[in-house]
Amino acid sequence: MEGLEMICRHCGSATTIRNGKSGSVQRFHCRSCQRYFRACPPKFSRDVKAMAVDMHLNNVGIRKIARFVGAAPATVIAWIRKAHEAMMASKSTAAHTDTVADIIEMDEIYTFVQKNGSAPLSGRPIPAVGAASSPTISPIPA
Ligand SMILES: [Zn+2]
Repeated sequence: MEGLEMICRHCGSATTIRNGKSGSVQRFHCRSCQRYFRACPPKFSRDVKAMAVDMHLNNVGIRKIARFVGAAPATVIAWIRKAHEAMMASKSTAAHTDTVADIIEMDEIYTFVQKNGSAPLSGRPIPAVGAASSPTISPIPA
């Protein structure tokens, strides 16, 4: 291993040092970007992650995406969150036209929580303290 230079997976820098092991795989630490990575290739390629995010943006459910790519639903959500953050970061300097993607993400994650929660969430709107002030919304009979 002496003289082996591992290129940082995140920033491409060669200023990496070995930093313990993750299971049987050598772990590295990048001195440039202060991030950690492993010597083995990632389980899911960028293409697969990009495809999963693309499927999500085309209204494919989280569980369906997970089944399709062979990952756990939580993993797919992590990819989508990461892609969303990257998109928000790139758009924060540009125009504020990110409301559509934001709503899609919230909707999907809400569905995921509902399916796995012990107590199913009711679809009823939460009544306000002064509920009489909104006569247009008729409460669903219990
Ligand atoms: Zn780095």
